[in-house]
Formats: sequence, structure tokens, C-alpha cells
Amino acid sequence: MIPLADRFGRVAKDLRVSLTDRCNLRCSYCMPAEGLDWLPDDQTLTDDEVVRLITIAVRRLGITEVRFTGGEPLVRRGLVDIVRRTHELGVETSLTTNALGLARTAAALREAGLDRINVSLDSVRPETFHEITRRDRLADVVAGLEAARAAGLSPLKINAVLLRGTNDDQASELLQWALDHSYDLRFIEQMPLDAQHGWSRAEMVTADEIFERLGADFTLTPHGEARGSDPAELFDVDGGPGTVGIIASVTRPFCGDCDRVRLTADGQIRNCLFAREESDLRAALRSGATDDDLADRWVVAMAGKRAGHGIDDESFLQPDRPMSAIGG
Ligand code: SAM
Ligand code: SF4
Repeated sequence: MIPLADRFGRVAKDLRVSLTDRCNLRCSYCMPAEGLDWLPDDQTLTDDEVVRLITIAVRRLGITEVRFTGGEPLVRRGLVDIVRRTHELGVETSLTTNALGLARTAAALREAGLDRINVSLDSVRPETFHEITRRDRLADVVAGLEAARAAGLSPLKINAVLLRGTNDDQASELLQWALDHSYDLRFIEQMPLDAQHGWSRAEMVTADEIFERLGADFTLTPHGEARGSDPAELFDVDGGPGTVGIIASVTRPFCGDCDRVRLTADGQIRNCLFAREESDLRAALRSGATDDDLADRWVVAMAGKRAGHGIDDESFLQPDRPMSAIGG
């Protein structure tokens, strides 16, 4: 086993696999209303190619957890089979999804061995949901969450992004809803990864602000357990057992504890969400590289990981790929 180590002593164990850059929502902080120029099919890894690379990561490079994401991973036709084949490698599998269509697939995903799921949901008001995602689909997300629970997927985590002037007044409402339904809610600071380059440091809702807003309605106390490589700062709500997480990706970066590496839907290795370089495993794979060659390329790609994302640096440049094409 060769560890995916970098120059700063970090070792990647957690592989994020983007299965598609396409999506059936248009969250304003992620992509424009008209969508993006999607990857052509011939540039997207096939199911067998994805599974081959995951197998190399697990068998040779020490990856112990695989999270499928996108774009929207549920729109990938081969998802259930890819999950099953990954589960058979003996690693933890999880999915980040907007939950559209989850009501139909949750049971099959669980049966294929999916361990956990994160659902993105920024508002439980239909009109605000529509305003953010540009689609009137809140009921489908709620149905998807219920189906995930019925299928035995646990814990059920919800990720929310707060946008100033849109849903930043709904933090407590969302938390109360999540507590009422026993979902684990985590707020994520908005990051400069939208295709439209509309992010602004001055406008983003900070972790401190989220804490303050929730503090007006709930008593938050630090949750005891060590955080490790989990980016969420966890708080007990009103003494527990309910909790809430705040992921301060921008204002309190956790790059020093990062154990992630990303594989895009077109077969590029990215050692960071904000990386400016990629390593093209698809070209290598399609020109006959052996598993050893591919593993070696992956190790080299990881070694070049930077110490931090540098969003607050003068020299910060947003990566060319938007979040939906990297895999969040
Ligand atoms: N479509 C799936 C979903 O929404 O869960 C998976 C992909 S999405 C890119 C993964 C996560 O990234 C979602 O929780 C979404 O809210 C988050 N996200 C997207 N753009 C973001 C941004 N600019 N800043 C922070 N989080 C973002
Ligand atoms: Fe789609 Fe997820 Fe981006 Fe929303 S955040 S547009 S659901 S990829």
C-alpha cells in the first residue's frame, strides 16, 4: 500500500467521486439559470473506468471511504451498480445529493450497500426553495429524505448554505425543522466556486453570524467529541441530543486536517477543491496505462497538494471548474 501523502504530513483517506457534472436543479450559488456546457459523454468516465480507479484507490492507495457526488449523482444511470461494486471493495460508501428522485432509489441504494447520505436543502419554505434552486421541487426533496429513512440510511445529514437576503433569516426555522424530523443539520459557508463568479467575501454569511442567529433561538454548546478530519464544528442544541454543525470553510479553514482527494467525472485527480492543477488519469487509462502506472500518477498528484486554499490571500484565484464540475 502506498499512502496518498503530501508534503505537509496529510494522508488522503477520503475519496470524493463526481459521477456527472449535470444537475436537475440550478442553485444560484452553484450554477447559472441556463445551466452549463455539460461534459460530452465520450469525455465522461464509463462505469467500468470509475470502478477501476476506485479499486486502485482502495487496494493500492489506502482510501477507506468513498463519497459519490456531482453535479447530481442520482442522474447517473449506473449509480446503484457503481455503489454496489464499491461497497464490495469493503469501504464506507456515502452520497451527497439534492434528493430529487431519491424516493425511487433509496431502497436500491441501501440494498447495494450505501452506508450514509447527505441531502442538500437550504430552505423548507417552498417559495424560498424555488428562488434558490430555480425549481419548484421542495416536496420531492422531503419525500426523498423520508424514503432514505425508511430504507434504513442513518444518520441523515442535511447540508444548507445561507445566502444574504434570501434565506439568512431562516437558519433557526431550518434547524427546528431538522430537529423535529431527527435530521442532522450542518450549515456550510458559501465558497467562491460558482460558475458565475458571483461570490463576494463581504456578502457571504459567516460562521460567526450563523452561530449568532441560531443563538437567538437556541442554546448552543460545543459537542464533546473530537472533530478529527470532520470539517463541521458540532454543537449540542438546547443541551442535546439534537446537534447542529457549522462548516466554516472560508473563515476558519480546516485545510491542515484535510484527508480528501477528488476524482472528477472526466477522470481528473484534484488534490483540493481549490486546486489550480489536475492530473489526467482518463487519458492515461485510455492509452493503456497499467494499474501501477495509474497509482503512481495519483501519488504524484497528491504530493503537490498546497498547504491551504488561500481564499483570504491577495493572490487567490478561483479555480476554472465550478463546484458542480469538481464534485462538492
Ligand atoms: N447536487 C448534489 C447536492 O447538491 O448535494 C451534490 C453536488 S453539490 C456541488 C455538493 C454540495 O456543495 C451541496 O451541499 C451544495 O450545497 C454545496 N455547494 C455548491 N456550491 C457551493 C458553494 N459555492 N459554496 C458552498 N457550498 C456549495
Ligand atoms: Fe445541483 Fe447540487 Fe449545484 Fe444545486 S448544489 S445546482 S443541486 S450540483
